[in-house]
Amino acid sequence: MKKRIILFVAGILFLQYFASAQNVVVVVIDGARYTETFGADSLYIPHIWKQLRPLGTIWTHFCNDGITKTDPGHASIITGTWQSLDNKGIFRPTLPTIFEYYRKTFRAPKSATAVVVGKHKLDILAFSTHHNYGAKYGASTFISRDDKSVVRNLKKILRKNHPRLIFVNLPSTDAAAHTGKWTRYLSAIRTADSLVFTIWNALQSNSFYCNKTTLFITNDHGRHDKLHGGFKDHGDNCEGCRHIMLLGVGRNISVNTVATKRGTICDIAPTVGELLSFPTPYSTGSSLLSDTLLNSTQ
Ligand SMILES: [Zn+2]
Ligand SMILES: [Zn+2]
Repeated sequence: MKKRIILFVAGILFLQYFASAQNVVVVVIDGARYTETFGADSLYIPHIWKQLRPLGTIWTHFCNDGITKTDPGHASIITGTWQSLDNKGIFRPTLPTIFEYYRKTFRAPKSATAVVVGKHKLDILAFSTHHNYGAKYGASTFISRDDKSVVRNLKKILRKNHPRLIFVNLPSTDAAAHTGKWTRYLSAIRTADSLVFTIWNALQSNSFYCNKTTLFITNDHGRHDKLHGGFKDHGDNCEGCRHIMLLGVGRNISVNTVATKRGTICDIAPTVGELLSFPTPYSTGSSLLSDTLLNSTQ
């Protein structure tokens, strides 16, 4: 009898997993300030602005209200909680990540979730230290060194592994800005912009992902505005560091829409949870889907 019940529950979970045959990809352009993204229209992000924006929804009042550094920013995105981690990659998030929620809910294999990043200190994102989750629900992790190698890696993973929930970090904009050279910073944003467009095209030309995937593009933090030291660095609570971009494109996202309601990076995890039908009980953010028209036919 007990065996039958276990089989029945396993069957339901299996069906749930395949019924939720949707995918989500979250791409973080590391450290791009709003004034050089949506704030400048198509000037530095022509592909995102002219080709992707009409296909989706942009959030124009989107912020990192926590620590505006790389590791805490990324950890807050994937947990939906404000994570006050150091920025050296020593400590893992303390509350469950979207990968752990996903794998635990659907009993999904490790290969179903992927963390594809360009900084070694971001390997902490694969799983949290939470006692009910942790390593056994962690994501498969792929580390490269710059935007181009991350995207090369990602394309290979899309073809071979077919993960359903993918988190991507494009590191080069932040690295270029830290050199203090304005033209290098802008050129890195332009490269990231064209790579984001190739990611979208790679998804749309793959039958596993085409019309079954929601893509988000955001940032972990911005950069100081002119009154707080300028674009070279980041890390405080100035408007330049806090204000970032969010674009959603694809399944369940309305086209050609501007959402002006204020949102934060903690809203991304519950949004991903709603899209893929898994709960995110520790998250303190709220799903952003009510800001965009749900349209399952897209
Ligand atoms: Zn960063
Ligand atoms: Zn600042």
